[in-house]
Amino acid sequence: MTDFTTICYERRERIAVLTLNRPDARNAQNIRMIDEIDAALDLAQADEDVRVLVLAAAGPSFSAGHDMKATRAASEAPDEYELPFSEKRKVTETLFEHEYDKYVGKCLRLRDFPKPTVALTQGHCIAAGWMIASMCDIVIASDDARFADPVVRMGSLGVELPVEFWDVGVRKAKELLFTGDPLPALDAHRLGFVNHVVPRDELESFGMAMATKISAMPPVAVRLAKMSMNRCLDQQGQANSFWQHYVTHQLAHQTNEFKTLRANLGTKDGVKGTLKDFFKDRDQRVTG
Ligand code: ZN
Repeated sequence: MTDFTTICYERRERIAVLTLNRPDARNAQNIRMIDEIDAALDLAQADEDVRVLVLAAAGPSFSAGHDMKATRAASEAPDEYELPFSEKRKVTETLFEHEYDKYVGKCLRLRDFPKPTVALTQGHCIAAGWMIASMCDIVIASDDARFADPVVRMGSLGVELPVEFWDVGVRKAKELLFTGDPLPALDAHRLGFVNHVVPRDELESFGMAMATKISAMPPVAVRLAKMSMNRCLDQQGQANSFWQHYVTHQLAHQTNEFKTLRANLGTKDGVKGTLKDFFKDRDQRVTG
């Protein structure tokens, strides 16, 4: 797969630049995009001249998360590519495998990608948007970046991997998950999740300059340094926490609370609305 429709992939010197390219959908990740990212990783991995991978995004926002619209619409107006996956979401047996394959497995592949990775984030980095940025070795944020995981508001327990806990510490992670509030770039920097915060119009030049610097380093040493630190994280319990959280995430998909919220997603007079309607409706019911 190289005829990409949801991402762009290009080589600039020794840097592979993978750009999420659904700006009108705030780079919401549908299954096609997830598969295309994975195919681009195949290209970057196989290309011996590629020393660094930059993960960027076109438009005002890095990524609004998994494409809920595609998930919801699949049964009503099926996109041929998405349709088989909507079938898999119907029962736990196949949902468990589907989400592990497309969400967890693909993310872990990026996390352990044999070459160093740099994420350039701006605007909304929501839920799976945060999750995919978190898989990168270095995260640069523009000053307008906002990281959030509103999935608890939707009756689940967060995204498939408990990245917030590892990225900003458990105390702040609990606040963010329990409230759904966004974390501004400067706070993400203060808490150690983000390496640098730069003005929006300098994001690309700053990120490419860092990638260029890394690309001049001895690649085997960089690879081993990455491998060592990722294995240390595993020893600290990250690998087990990922698995434990994923199983609990699947449990959360089966609660009556989640199913009721999802069934009534933004419904008004029997008509389904947008995700925004859903949150508004949900919050009104909570506070009203
Ligand atoms: Zn899920």
